Amino acid sequence: MKKIKKVLIANRGEIAIRVIRSCRELGIETVAVHSTADEDSLHVKMADESVCIGPAKSTLSYLNIPQILSAADITGADAIHPGYGFLSENDEFAEMCGKWGITFIGPSVRCIQAMGDKIESKLIAKKANVPTLEPIYTTDKSHDDIRVEVEKMGFPVLIKASAGGGGRGMKKIENFDDLYISLTRLAEEAKAAFGDGTLFIEKYIENPRHIEIQILADQHGNVIHLGERDCTIQRRFQKILEEAPSPVLTPAKRQEICDSAVRLAKHVNYDSVGTVEFLFDQDTQQFYFMEMNTRIQVEHPVTEMRTGVDLISEQIRHADGGVCRLKQSDILFRNHVMEFRINAEDPKTGMPSPGFITHYHRPGGLGVRTDDYIYTGYTVPPYYDSMVSKIIVFADSRETCITRSKRVLSETVVGGIQTNIELHKRILNNAEFVEGHFSTNFLSKNLV
Ligand code: ADP
Ligand code: ADP
Ligand code: MG
Repeated sequence: MKKIKKVLIANRGEIAIRVIRSCRELGIETVAVHSTADEDSLHVKMADESVCIGPAKSTLSYLNIPQILSAADITGADAIHPGYGFLSENDEFAEMCGKWGITFIGPSVRCIQAMGDKIESKLIAKKANVPTLEPIYTTDKSHDDIRVEVEKMGFPVLIKASAGGGGRGMKKIENFDDLYISLTRLAEEAKAAFGDGTLFIEKYIENPRHIEIQILADQHGNVIHLGERDCTIQRRFQKILEEAPSPVLTPAKRQEICDSAVRLAKHVNYDSVGTVEFLFDQDTQQFYFMEMNTRIQVEHPVTEMRTGVDLISEQIRHADGGVCRLKQSDILFRNHVMEFRINAEDPKTGMPSPGFITHYHRPGGLGVRTDDYIYTGYTVPPYYDSMVSKIIVFADSRETCITRSKRVLSETVVGGIQTNIELHKRILNNAEFVEGHFSTNFLSKNLV
């Protein structure tokens, strides 16, 4: 191993703190970067050093590559952890880090390029013999040509942006009028949001589960999986509650999906932590590859509390050339785990609701982990993601996990701003949720 000594964290909020924690346990120094809006942020206080990299607007700070590389240079950081969102799946950034002699804590540029694009990665999945939904390409095609193909596929269909993420750039379509209008509008939106207006169409699955597999791989060809996470509870294609194990997978189906994810990761010589996302059609029991996220994910603590593996420590070791310390047979699964994403949002509209926190009480007791960055007296800035905390609850069965989660949420207090805590409580009291019988439509059908 080359031995990383100082990591700059090119992110903010809870994930920046999460990375600082692993670094500290590994004996690695940390550098926080922050915008002017984040001067009072906890990640700045917790890091060994900090550098202001620009104004509130992300494009001028957390997405500002020259500023971030300069901050690494002046502080002598030899590695950069990108967290999730922001620059975490930006192959140009990863490449620039390499050119500056800085270790990018993530997969190789080659892996990001291969798997970062939803269309490219579908083609690779097909080659790796992993089932995926057949796309209709829309680039350079007339409306008449697209019509013929969509007629064959049948409504409903889903338009997706190839470069999309975070649930954005997607729309369910039921008829041709909407299809034509949406193709034009979404292409413009995708161009503005992701810098790439490429769209494709695929069959919309009516009652799916979102099942994803955590991959752990190194630069020496070792690839293992750490099981699944079920992220079916979503609002507008955005996850809000994740759990493991999935209540709907038989052991045989679980094995099949995990094997597919490992096969795909091996096929691209994947070399870091990553997640292979699938849609699981409950009506046919068929699963389809959706996308791969070539970074650490928001919900990684679910897997950590189930397996005891510190995913970010392993990610750092592997970026440093370390050999995977775990074999597949070392991974033991225990606990039922649920993660609740606590967002500063208006419960009626789901729109962000930042502001001053008059009082914050973090839950405690047996079976709870809280990854957050807020504190009493902190003002949640309006410029970034509305997620302020992740509450992770674990117990020896799904039933106990649900009763414990209710207890944990009932003692959580975030005063002064609106949050989705009540929404999580309603989900936990819903009979379909308790039985485990639900699909990605759960929230639009039941509670919103
Ligand atoms: P995860 O995939 O880690 O479960 P999300 O899909 O919600 O979680 O994405 C993680 C974070 O990254 C969110 O803050 C989301 O808004 C952001 N994000 C993901 N992909 C993109 C993208 N292509 N462009 C902008 N933001 C993104
Ligand atoms: P993102 O990059 O925004 O995470 P994904 O391709 O992972 O985009 O899809 C996000 C969510 O959208 C999925 O978790 C699922 O709920 C829904 N979705 C995606 N593809 C389909 C589909 N073909 N049919 C039904 N729902 C889908
Ligand atoms: Mg996704």
